[in-house]
Amino acid sequence: MAKVHLLPPDVVRRIAAGEVVERPASILKEVIENSIDAGADSLVIDLEGAGRRSIRVQDNGSGVDREDMEQLFYRHSTSKISSFEDLESLSTLGFRGEALYSIAAVSEVFFRSRVSESSEGWELHIRGGERLGLKPCAMAKGTVIEVKQVFFNTPARKKFLKSDASEMRACLDVFLSQAIASFGIAFSFSAGRTVYTLPSGEGFRERVAHLLNLPLEHLFEAEAEIPEHRAFVRIVAGDQNLQRPRRENQFIVVSGRPVINKAISFAVNRAYESLLPAQRYGCFAVFLDIPPEEIDANIHPSKQEVKIAGEREIASFVASFLLATLSSRGAAKQYRLDPKIARELSESTEKKRPFERKKSAIPMKSRESVTPYVSPTAQSKVLFPHISPVRDRFSSLREALASSSFLGSFRAKYLLFEATAALFIMDQHAAHERITFETLKRQMKEGTVPVQQLLMPLVFSLSPQERVAWEERKQAIEAVGFSASLWEQDSIAVHSHPQSLLFPEYAVRALLAEEPISYTDKEALARRACRQSLMAGTVLLREEAEALKTSLLDCEEPFTCPHGRPTVIELDEQSIARQFLRSG
Ligand code: ADP
Ligand code: MG
Repeated sequence: MAKVHLLPPDVVRRIAAGEVVERPASILKEVIENSIDAGADSLVIDLEGAGRRSIRVQDNGSGVDREDMEQLFYRHSTSKISSFEDLESLSTLGFRGEALYSIAAVSEVFFRSRVSESSEGWELHIRGGERLGLKPCAMAKGTVIEVKQVFFNTPARKKFLKSDASEMRACLDVFLSQAIASFGIAFSFSAGRTVYTLPSGEGFRERVAHLLNLPLEHLFEAEAEIPEHRAFVRIVAGDQNLQRPRRENQFIVVSGRPVINKAISFAVNRAYESLLPAQRYGCFAVFLDIPPEEIDANIHPSKQEVKIAGEREIASFVASFLLATLSSRGAAKQYRLDPKIARELSESTEKKRPFERKKSAIPMKSRESVTPYVSPTAQSKVLFPHISPVRDRFSSLREALASSSFLGSFRAKYLLFEATAALFIMDQHAAHERITFETLKRQMKEGTVPVQQLLMPLVFSLSPQERVAWEERKQAIEAVGFSASLWEQDSIAVHSHPQSLLFPEYAVRALLAEEPISYTDKEALARRACRQSLMAGTVLLREEAEALKTSLLDCEEPFTCPHGRPTVIELDEQSIARQFLRSG
């Protein structure tokens, strides 16, 4: 073994840099924080190559004078705290004085800054921790930092970076959460085709709607004091019309700092469970203001988590506050036509296929809400008093649908059935998903999944994320009834698949997407595999449509797809009559 020796400073620098600088997104996070700490109210962010090639942030904050500039890139040089006790009254996002040092150690940095008292700015140039120059430059007050060639001198770390798409997603996450946290600040963000311009002075709710592209009318804002904790909470929450398959539209901000907080996240998602179908998640932003002495921001290397005194009580307060807000103001689930689709529909009338003409029977521009069928189990969880439980209506709905007759199909997506006093619209895709799901679930439970052997394997390529997921989920995929093997570096070959699945490739991709599930959880596996089972767009013949209806009625829960969406909606005669301004 070699003799014990001190590592040269250059090596120390690179090892230590790992703490805060893992990937381009961590650099972006630190430089945005610095601009906000400098009191800027306008930030212009530009990324190239998902942040690998360049990250540039321009702000109109306080700037740094020439004297301080010399010190900026030393480790632990900061203007924000002087003693450990200062952390008790911390009002800035940064405090360790490590970020610029660590960033400069693994990239090339141009740091330009001008304070208002000075007539010119200064540009500091550092590469791989080595200072290359300091010279005057003309610029407006504030700071422009440009970070280039990220990890040029640390090939191992560079190799660990993921695809551009996933590095980009991480950068976007950083930007979105900070832009929500700092809703009063103007931001401009551009990275390839992704561009955002957010004005200053936007309200919290407007900022959330704007950034996440959510409809304002389904977002509620409410605020409250939590006197026992001297805290203040403001929430923006989507009603049950905003359901997502993942938790990505959920933000928690503690005193201006976007954080991950399991207690609050858990409590709020729990509250949403009573409003949303299983495996659907709500959209929300929770903004807490807590006195600095009640928070410890020094528990996480990249400051993504903070410790909050009285966290559990605060979390349960937030959750019940959210629930109360939504129950008093939340709308019943609305079914209405997307204006874009309405436009497409009116444009496509020239085609005049026999069934498409039937669309005039449905009030297209109706903004009226239609009561969906909700399974009795899901329904009993709904808290809104104005949606009455339909447990006793449920069996009569089965009967009404059973006795209905097929009228035709609409847009090759919906099947229309006429009953005595109602029109049923069946989403053929959702209905087929339900049927396939129940079949596959039963077969998996019985351990007899009939498989389809393929003469020629079905080969398809995987994305880097899917490739990684493949390694950990092979067993789960086989448990559903697939046999598949890795074909080349990033493609797989499917040799057989469960007979009931029409699109095995989609099923495999669905099993590879999102979080892994245990291969013993048969129901969850079947649910995921049945995504996309019958494509919308397949035109069904009368016999096929009737058969689909019969199989659907044979299901345990015919009126929701495995992911909680309705499979059938009913338009009763009265609501149609009302559209024609008939009184009776
Ligand atoms: P910290 O933010 O923990 O203090 P950093 O390494 O991120 O550590 O930054 C070091 C110092 O550089 C900051 O304390 C601040 O004084 C100065 N600084 C960095 N970026 C800016 C900026 N955009 N505007 C003004 N000052 C800045
Ligand atoms: Mg900082």
